[in-house]
Amino acid sequence: MIDKKKFYINGKWINPIKPNEIKVIDPATEKDCAVISLGGLDDVNLAVSSAKKALENWAFTSKDEKVKLLESLYELYKKRWADIAEAITLEMGAPKDFSTQLQAGTGASHIKSFIKYLKEFKFEKILGDHAKNQKIIYEPKGVCALITPWNWPMNQVCLKVIPALASGCTMILKPSELAPLSSMILAEIIDEAKFPNGVFNLINGDGAVTGDALTSHPDVNMISFTGSTRAGALISQNAAKDFKRISLELGGKGANIIFKDADPEAVERGALRCFRNSGQSCNAPTRMLVEKSIYHEAVERVKKFANDLKVDDPKKEGDHIGPVISETQYDKIQTLIQKGIDEGAKLVAGGIGKPSGIEKGYFVKPTAFANVNNQMQIARTEIFGPVLSIIPFETEEEAIKIANDTPYGLTNYIQTQDQDKANRVARKLRSGMVDVNGAGIAVDAPFGGFKHSGIGREAGAKGLEEFLEVKSVGGWNEN
Ligand code: NAD
Repeated sequence: MIDKKKFYINGKWINPIKPNEIKVIDPATEKDCAVISLGGLDDVNLAVSSAKKALENWAFTSKDEKVKLLESLYELYKKRWADIAEAITLEMGAPKDFSTQLQAGTGASHIKSFIKYLKEFKFEKILGDHAKNQKIIYEPKGVCALITPWNWPMNQVCLKVIPALASGCTMILKPSELAPLSSMILAEIIDEAKFPNGVFNLINGDGAVTGDALTSHPDVNMISFTGSTRAGALISQNAAKDFKRISLELGGKGANIIFKDADPEAVERGALRCFRNSGQSCNAPTRMLVEKSIYHEAVERVKKFANDLKVDDPKKEGDHIGPVISETQYDKIQTLIQKGIDEGAKLVAGGIGKPSGIEKGYFVKPTAFANVNNQMQIARTEIFGPVLSIIPFETEEEAIKIANDTPYGLTNYIQTQDQDKANRVARKLRSGMVDVNGAGIAVDAPFGGFKHSGIGREAGAKGLEEFLEVKSVGGWNEN
């Protein structure tokens, strides 16, 4: 079994102050695959004090020096790419090819993109030609607690760690206790790249003790969190006590509006976006809204797509989907599928139980419901499994109303070949992102949500600015 019991604090791998171990479970086999430690209050205090000490120099380290270290990190990441992908497959069950290309791949894309934005970013500028002695200075927010989930581990970790490093912040990363292994490889990479001691620290642990201790620590200046809306609310309460800066990337219940003039692949593309990563993506289009005149045909096409989608061992190559993360998540998904049946939605593919021929592992059948109305629980709750709800609509206004009738507002999708209609609808959707005709959201476009989907934006220039405070100085004069 892989032994990962140490934490990375102040540039060294050290044992936790009090041993408290848990096993990491391979969701494809239900067997223990690694052992890690859960951090206690003393470990958190040690990590925060090391980050606080390191801030004194790192905040004032030159941009050139930071670029040099980040470029070295990027080269080392590319060398460890296969190890990272393998760790992600083991810890959260993403199939090998998906792990390599998308899961580990997005981490690399973010590192490259943040290096570019760091090079371009002006940390000091004047307010304008009308006020040349008014200086605007961007400074690091300080010591950051970075807390991440298990569903896109390297994507989420790199969206936080890299801009935090680039901005001159110091940090304590607490990855998900369910999927910590890829993050521990990133810590090895940061160590090898020779960032100064204490700039980056990693501590494993759960939400209730370690996460709570980090987010309520008086010396933590900023919290960047990705995870459930439930934990996001608790973290906001901790942050409010001493006005910590917060960035929250939370859940979603995206609508995919398919108009009758959509392109021929729109339905299958939408189903795939819902089912891939076994439905465990905050931006998954889990409500497919279909114009009535093509509704029946769309349901038949989703049914075929879901029935044809292979569910298999994530360690194999191929375009199948793997298991969901845990027994708890598997049980939650089963309960919600049963709820859909009980509420009167029409099950057209998948359903309760494991896919045929699979006995071990948290594998879920790709499941689709037709005749769903937007008030049913399957249309309101973020299921975080491969479950699609297909909802009919008659007019553009009705589609927009249904799409916006959710507490969430992360990503919505539009399928139509009428570009004017697409642009009009995109303006009216209450979400941080809108994807038209499968164009995708660029790696450096602002990523984040409206309403219960969060606060703040990650990625690209916006993602870098999240880690910076702004200072205005009047009476500045350059010699
Ligand atoms: P979770 O909230 O249970 O856990 C996420 C992380 O927060 C873990 O590291 C966990 O240990 C920690 N945590 C939990 N409770 C905490 C607390 N009270 N204080 C401090 N830390 C705490 O979420 P999850 O089940 O691991 O992840 C799935 C959720 O994440 C889904 O709701 C999904 O939509 C959301 N998500 C959002 C985005 C986004 O960018 N918007 C991306 C991925 C996942």
